[in-house]
Amino acid sequence: MPASPSEQQSRGRSLPLVGSSRQVPPRTVRLSLTDRCDLACVYCRPSRSDGYLENRLDDDAWKTTVRALVAAGVRRVRITGGEPLLHPRVVARVAFVASLGVEDLALTTNATRLAALARPLREAGLQRLTVSIDSLVPERFERITRGGDLAGVLSGVDAALAAGFAEVKTNTVVLRGENDDELPDIVSWACARGIVPRFIEVMRIGEGARLPPESLVGASEMRTKLAHLLAEERAERDRDRGPAKYVRLRADPRRRVGFITGTTDTYCGSCDRLRVASDGMIRPCLATNDGVAAMPHAIAGDVGGVVDAIAEAWSLKPDGETWKGCTEPTAAGVSIRAIGG
Ligand code: SAM
Repeated sequence: MPASPSEQQSRGRSLPLVGSSRQVPPRTVRLSLTDRCDLACVYCRPSRSDGYLENRLDDDAWKTTVRALVAAGVRRVRITGGEPLLHPRVVARVAFVASLGVEDLALTTNATRLAALARPLREAGLQRLTVSIDSLVPERFERITRGGDLAGVLSGVDAALAAGFAEVKTNTVVLRGENDDELPDIVSWACARGIVPRFIEVMRIGEGARLPPESLVGASEMRTKLAHLLAEERAERDRDRGPAKYVRLRADPRRRVGFITGTTDTYCGSCDRLRVASDGMIRPCLATNDGVAAMPHAIAGDVGGVVDAIAEAWSLKPDGETWKGCTEPTAAGVSIRAIGG
């Protein structure tokens, strides 16, 4: 099991301290509501019983943290986990973030509980939704997620489409020999519903580092598998919208397919994200446990103290010239589920 954040911290920092070159304040945050998850995807965690954080922010401490993030300049929020829909007050927490008037409010989910929660989340002010679906074949889905029920997830997607989110996307981690023959089917299924499919290179983070190296399917190979469906054009990023690069469909240029290349082409130089775990640990990068513990300030209701912790975490933001994110050896020792993926 990866070392706990406090254990990692006490061993000293692993990031090259060149983050002071970042002149802009943090704009984007991934807020993990919980490190709990009801699935155990083979590239993410070893089993469903691999241990959880001991302390989590209660509602008041969490609100203090979010107020501080907005005061520090954060304008785009993605709620994640673990599985955020397992948090008993996820709808109230979404409503709280929405009440602060952020520009963008999105959530990433495995959709096991989305059928019941899609409409309340939309009504609470959630704007965009990303659903992780690694296969449209029930047996494969069950194997990759270690027990997931595809039918329930697809009902969640239907509910999300009916709820009228501004955008629904999917994330598919492509694994050789597992789902790499499904890319055209996933594109057809998603685009027929107005969903934006995205394909992710497996990263050597957490359990992903323990998969055989040949599991990786690079984005260029993914594009080859989709060549008959995609326009022949350079994949382009959307401004202010994370690392995915998009290519339009030949048959309908309004529809796009995204690729996330965290392994073959890291994008750390343009990363403007902070991550806040459910225990209040603020991290500048997914690929290391380095971070700043803000829980004591958050529990005290001390917004200024959390703002200072955010500034300290932001100063640790690595420079993408020397730091290559999830290809760095530290990535193998972290839990994406605990940090917030
Ligand atoms: N439970 C939610 C879900 O399933 O979407 C949110 C958390 S999950 C950690 C967020 C995303 O991280 C998912 O789309 C998942 O596929 C991705 N992910 C986790 N481990 C990964 C790895 N080793 N390589 C690439 N993507 C990974």
